[in-house]
Amino acid sequence: MRILLVAPPGAGKGTQGALIATHFDVPHIATGDLLRDHVARRTPLGLAVQDCLDRGELVSDEIVLNIVRDEVEKAKREGRGYVLDGMPRNMTQARAIYQIARTLDMTAQVVLHLVADDDELVRRLLARAALEHRTDDTEEVVRRRLAIYHDVTHPIVDWYDQRGILVAVDAMQPVDRVARQILTALEAMRPLVNLVPESARQSIDLTGLGKAFGNH
Ligand code: AMP
Repeated sequence: MRILLVAPPGAGKGTQGALIATHFDVPHIATGDLLRDHVARRTPLGLAVQDCLDRGELVSDEIVLNIVRDEVEKAKREGRGYVLDGMPRNMTQARAIYQIARTLDMTAQVVLHLVADDDELVRRLLARAALEHRTDDTEEVVRRRLAIYHDVTHPIVDWYDQRGILVAVDAMQPVDRVARQILTALEAMRPLVNLVPESARQSIDLTGLGKAFGNH
């Protein structure tokens, strides 16, 4: 499977991305983790992006696209799919990753969108700040990251909806229920992804599922 994960900060994309990667035995390519690793190792790239990460701003498209190109090429060489977590973050990245993936015959088959309220996201991110000491989890930076998400990241969801490859899941539910809904939806799609032409694909909206089963 080749999956893009698009979600606001704090919606659980790291946790769910890792789970999906294990379930489908594909690499979990998390741009935030890769960038933080460069910062921790104080590589030239890490030193160049550290300020952006601390301020909650997006690093340059060129930097993240270079990192992701290498990782997708590696997945291709290994004959595997991927879960790409944290990329694309804006329309330029969405178009660029599509072009890169097309040349490798590795375009995404599913875009998984995690949906959550801002108030809950802020609560979760501040709770995480206390545990993990991430430099970008202070309230001011959290609010900036959410604002950037709404301004430039969320609009790309509509683009994927039009391409018929969007699966939306309610991420406000308990983490194990979110995981189960994601894996059920992806398993249901697995036999179809290579068979259904792009023009005939249908987006799937599971965000009302919890309510339908009386969870809200
Ligand atoms: P994340 O772990 O996905 O929340 O990302 C943490 C930080 O890494 C973000 O706030 C950005 O500074 C940077 N980052 C991660 N992915 C990208 C991306 N695709 N484009 C630009 N910046 C990114």
